[in-house]
Amino acid sequence: MEFKKVIRKSRQLGILAGISFLALLCSVWNIAVMKKDLSYHTREYCVGITTHIAKEIRDSVDNKKAELLNVADAVSGVVGNNEKNGLNRFFRREIDQQDFDAILMVNEQGACISGAINDGMVLNVQKLAQLSSVKESFSGQVNMGFFDNQTLFYSAPVFVGEECPVVLVGVRSRENMQSMIASKAFYDKTLSCIIDSNGEVILSPTDLKAFLYLDNIFKDNSRKQTVAAIRQMQEDIRSKEDGVIHFLDVNNNHNMLAYNNLGINDWILLTIVPENLFSDSVSQYTFRSILIIGGISLCFLAYLMTIYCIYTDNRNYLSQIAFIDPVTGGMNNKAFQLQYQKNAAEGKSFPSAIVLLNVVNFKRINEKFGFAAGNEILSQIYQGIKVHLDEQKEEFAARGETDHFFLCMREKEPQAIQERLDRLVREINDCRLSDSFRYQISFTAGCCLADGQVQDIHLIQDRARIAIQSKNGDEGKWCVFYDEEVAKRIEREQETEEQFEEAVIRGDFAVYLQPKVSLITGKPEGAEALIRWNHPKRGLIPPSEFVPLFERTGRICQLDFYVFQEICRFYERRRREGKKWYPVSVNLSRYHFYEEAPLEQFYQVYKEYGLAEHSIEFELTESMFFDDEHIARLKKEIRKMHELGIRCSMDDFGFGYSSLGLLREFDVDTLKLDRSFFLDMSNEKAKNIIQSIVELAVKLEIETVAEGIEEAEQVDFLYSINCDKVQGYYFSRPLPMDEFERWVGQYEAKEIQNG
Ligand code: C2E
Ligand code: MG
Ligand code: MG
Repeated sequence: MEFKKVIRKSRQLGILAGISFLALLCSVWNIAVMKKDLSYHTREYCVGITTHIAKEIRDSVDNKKAELLNVADAVSGVVGNNEKNGLNRFFRREIDQQDFDAILMVNEQGACISGAINDGMVLNVQKLAQLSSVKESFSGQVNMGFFDNQTLFYSAPVFVGEECPVVLVGVRSRENMQSMIASKAFYDKTLSCIIDSNGEVILSPTDLKAFLYLDNIFKDNSRKQTVAAIRQMQEDIRSKEDGVIHFLDVNNNHNMLAYNNLGINDWILLTIVPENLFSDSVSQYTFRSILIIGGISLCFLAYLMTIYCIYTDNRNYLSQIAFIDPVTGGMNNKAFQLQYQKNAAEGKSFPSAIVLLNVVNFKRINEKFGFAAGNEILSQIYQGIKVHLDEQKEEFAARGETDHFFLCMREKEPQAIQERLDRLVREINDCRLSDSFRYQISFTAGCCLADGQVQDIHLIQDRARIAIQSKNGDEGKWCVFYDEEVAKRIEREQETEEQFEEAVIRGDFAVYLQPKVSLITGKPEGAEALIRWNHPKRGLIPPSEFVPLFERTGRICQLDFYVFQEICRFYERRRREGKKWYPVSVNLSRYHFYEEAPLEQFYQVYKEYGLAEHSIEFELTESMFFDDEHIARLKKEIRKMHELGIRCSMDDFGFGYSSLGLLREFDVDTLKLDRSFFLDMSNEKAKNIIQSIVELAVKLEIETVAEGIEEAEQVDFLYSINCDKVQGYYFSRPLPMDEFERWVGQYEAKEIQNG
């Protein structure tokens, strides 16, 4: 069950971890798609920009041609006028205005007629005038070209009428042209150059390096794709089409090479654009994004792991709480039950004996040595039990509740179990002799034999519990075995318990009165109220069959109160009828004194009925006076009884410890001597003891009542030692109220007769 839970939880965490990993993959995929898109857009952008640059270069060349043509038109009127100086001045002005470095006027023979040259410009005018492009201009063409690979020139015809005697040559320095192809876009990361259709570089930027490696690519590239792309480019150039190819340079960088037909001569503009132009900066963002997403995913994973660890820790902690007893460090009852069930399933539990071992008076141990020492003792007991049990035989033990231990012994004979338990208790006590809390520990035990017919461990434990509860005073056998008889008794007790309420309502409980006769007057001078259960089926049930049970279940206080009320009613009736009242003693269970204000309701009813002083007595059994825990409360209550005029008697004196010290400590009015004192009247020593007790009581002005008196010999002895009253079958058994009235009536009648 527990295992399945762990699997389920782990699966849930696994799914969550999987989802977060998937999310990470998705974001990586997304970034990859974005990069691809970006490269496509970079290419588009590259095409757009290079086309634009090509157009700019074309326009600039056309402009320069047009400008030179304008100058040619302007001078056509003065050609041959011998205005050389004027022309020279004009050309000087035009150089400055039209951004030429030189303007020369040459004739067909190649001689320079006039012109102007910027300072610092070195020019071989003769050679220039011989150029075919210049010569073509005499037939009316406007040309441009490179001269000496250094200088850019434009040539335009100067028409005089239909004739063209001279040509104007406008010269621009190479730097002027280079500025046109210098990287204008793409953040200076691109390179452009102009080549002719043969691949000869016409114009390159100042730094030629980039084109040097480009040269390598065209010649030695072994990459199939690059070779194919270059071939494509060459075809396009031949058919004067623009395009872009991708290639890997010698440094293994991805690049784009855009080629644009300039429309000037057979010139082509080449532009190299690194593919990561944008993606590089975007890569930083994407790298950061991946880092962030990865970080978040890692945090999430760590979070999941932490949750898992906390969950595992908690589970371990819970299983510790659930199965380990904090006091002994061993199994708790839950673990005991599980172990038994596991063994039973494997056929290792039968036959066995489940023993419930209870520490007698553990409360006293706690009070005497303190709570911590109490726990220590419990732990020692558990260790003692463990040492005794044979784990090889699948024997094990656990602490159940407070001072209860459950043992599973692989035994089936009650005698063997009893012997082992005797030995166990001896071992525990021997072992503890050296302990600082030296205290002889005694136990009671209940045992249920498990032969496999009943498999439910809860039921078996319940039976061991029932057995321990049904222990009835036989000290020799301190372990009670659950059997049919015990079961029947418990069943009967349960029935009795269930029938209580109904019996009270039906009035099945009857109060009997047993007279107390004065040995001085020989007349009844009081009575004890004794409860009887008039059961519709079982007949008259004596208190010994239900009082101990009701003491265990707590109903006894209710029953005592019922008896007290009946006596009050009886008092009320007799008073109404003007009859004499005989002080009645009512038994009170010790359980009243476990409450904070024990007899409040008794006092209330007492006051309501207005009972006369000393008309009621409460009997408290001797054992109550040893109950250290409630001693203060008991003393206080006795004082209160006296204040209200209620007498108090100590019942069953002599049955238990018979401590005379109690008489000094407690302010009781009556001492009821237990019938066990009078069982052997032939024993002189016993008689001397009784005499001494009675004499002491007389001295302390405590009334003495002898209980259970059946014989005249006993009465005579009690008379001789000045015992005050006698209660017993000798005079009368406990009687129903009406019979009691008749019984005392006889005495009253005699009294009237005697006058
Ligand atoms: P107890 O208070 O000591 O009552 C005296 C018991 O001795 C009564 O037993 C009575 O019937 C019995 N007895 C009296 N004379 C003789 C005799 O000559 N010979 C013998 N063998 N027995 C005699 P009972 O009525 O069975 O009551 C037993 C005990 O039950 C009482 O002992 C008392 O402790 C308890 N009990 C009875 N009624 C009540 C009650 O209303 N409340 C409480 N809490 N306990 C009660
Ligand atoms: Mg009594
Ligand atoms: Mg008694």
